[in-house]
Amino acid sequence: MIRPRKVFAQHWLKSEKALDAIIKAAECREGDRILEIGPGTGILTRRLLALVQSLLAVEIDRDLCQLLAKQLGKRENFLLLQGDFLTLDLPSQLVAFPNFQNQNKVVANIPYNITGPIIEKLLGTIANPNPEPFESIVLLVQKEVAERLYAQAGSKAFGALSVRVQYLAECELICTVPAAAFHPPPKVDSAVVRLRPRTIEIPAVDPRRFENLVKLGFAAKRKMLRNNLQSAVERDRLTQLLEQLKINPQARAEDLSVQQWVTLANELGVKSEE
Ligand code: SAH
Repeated sequence: MIRPRKVFAQHWLKSEKALDAIIKAAECREGDRILEIGPGTGILTRRLLALVQSLLAVEIDRDLCQLLAKQLGKRENFLLLQGDFLTLDLPSQLVAFPNFQNQNKVVANIPYNITGPIIEKLLGTIANPNPEPFESIVLLVQKEVAERLYAQAGSKAFGALSVRVQYLAECELICTVPAAAFHPPPKVDSAVVRLRPRTIEIPAVDPRRFENLVKLGFAAKRKMLRNNLQSAVERDRLTQLLEQLKINPQARAEDLSVQQWVTLANELGVKSEE
C-alpha cells in the first residue's frame, strides 16, 4: 500500500461498510457520469467503475496518479486528471474527452482540509450558482462539518455555513463513519452526506446583501438576532420586520430558516431603497 501523505490530507478508506454506504447513497445507474475528487489508491473508484457509464477522477498526487494509471488506465470508462481540483479548469481540460464532459454526479472521499472550497466549487456561490448543477453530490466529510451541513433551523449546529449551503442544495446525513475506518485514522470522526442542488423558492434579490446579513447575524451566536444586526438595521425597523415576518423578536440567528433569512434580507433591501 502506498504511504499516505499528510500534506494532501490522505486517509485511505478501508471499511467495506462505509464504502457500501457511499455507493448506495450515490444511487448509481448505468448512464451515470461520475466525478471523483481525490481517488487516492482507487478503492472507491474501482467500485464505481463497475457500475457507471464513465468516471472522471482528479488527483493531485503524482505518484498516486502513476499507480492509478497503471492499474486502471486501460478501462475505457475511466479518465484521470492530475492536478489540484480547486484550480483545474475542467471544461478546458475535457475538450478532447467528450465522453467525460458534463458529469451528473459527484462521489468522493475528499481531502478534509479543503472541504469548504470543494463544496463551493461544486455548488457555486449564492451570487453565482453552478449553472449546470449536479444531480447529487455524495461526500465523505468531517463529522462536525457534516452536522453543520444538514442542521435544521433551531438546532445548535445551524450556522452561516448551513444557510449558505442549504440555500443551494438540500443536505442529508447518510451515516457516520468512525475514524477507525481509515488508514491512518484521522483525528476526527467522519460522515457521509448527500447534497442535492436545488433552486430555493424565493431567491435573494441581492445575494451579497443576503450573505453579509447572514454573516453578521451569526457573528455572535448566542446573542439575540436583533442585537447582532444592530450595526446594520435600526432597532425599531428590525422589530417591526420580525413582527411582519412572524418571527419571535427574541429569536437568535439559528432560529430562522433559510427561507426566513432570505425574506428578511429581501425586505430590508426593499424598504431602504424607498
Ligand atoms: N478516495 C480515497 C482517498 C481519500 S484521501 C479513499 O477513500 O481512500 C484524499 C485524497 O485527495 C488523496 O488521494 C489526496 O492526494 C487527494 N487530494 C488532496 N488534495 C487534493 C486536491 N487539491 N485536488 C485533488 N485531489 C486532492
